Amino acid sequence: MRRKIVAGNWKMHGSRTENAALVEAIVATVTSERTACVICPPFVYLHETWRMLRGGSVALGAQDLCAEAMGAHTGEVSASMLKDVGCTYVLVGHSERRALYGEDSHLVARKFAAALSKGLTPVLCVGEQLQDREASRTEAIVSAQIDAVVQLCGIQSFAQAVIAYEPVWAIGTGRTATPEQAQETHAFIRQRLVREDAKIGAGLRILYGGSVKAGNARDIFAMPDVDGGLIGGASLKADEFTAIFAAADSLAA
Ligand code: PEP
Repeated sequence: MRRKIVAGNWKMHGSRTENAALVEAIVATVTSERTACVICPPFVYLHETWRMLRGGSVALGAQDLCAEAMGAHTGEVSASMLKDVGCTYVLVGHSERRALYGEDSHLVARKFAAALSKGLTPVLCVGEQLQDREASRTEAIVSAQIDAVVQLCGIQSFAQAVIAYEPVWAIGTGRTATPEQAQETHAFIRQRLVREDAKIGAGLRILYGGSVKAGNARDIFAMPDVDGGLIGGASLKADEFTAIFAAADSLAA
């Protein structure tokens, strides 16, 4: 059975004071080891957050990284730096990076490779825009986003990675994919990878992201190919985030 993951993407939110209260509440509540919990604060708060996690069961992730290893890249943060401050996960190709910062699938694949090269677990975010879904292009879009990584890094690289399926029309909009819609695309993604390598496809964790809340988490996470969630807005509220974690964990019992 695949161990579920609940990951919180704080985006560009928080302050030292707010983070301390949020992390304290998460650490006090998230004690189960059956389900993995990851929080992804902004870069500047990573190391302080890592200290607050005190080596417990909550892991630290970053929201992005540079594709280059080091050097003259003003403003960028490398995979080895993320490792150095305590990260074990990193998001790559979040739809906001693709849409607002022009990251194409080739750059995302290079970031994926950079993460793996330092032993970080990349969480590859994929997903379609509303017009793509309406034109029945979801599978073509998601395939192309995954293919770029398979081409650069090989199918074996997915043994150390996670995919987050995040329909762009559901991110931060309050409009969630139905559990059936999520399952349909998750099953498609899994089959896509199973065709290349049955073991890797079967073992891959595929998270759903897009307006997950305490009230809808259990139904989505109960779908057979949904292995947890990537949570944006609701990860900033301790009660909501820990209830989402509890929903995932209850399915592992
Ligand atoms: C996200 O940012 O990855 C996300 C899923 O956001 P939200 O939960 O707010 O839709």
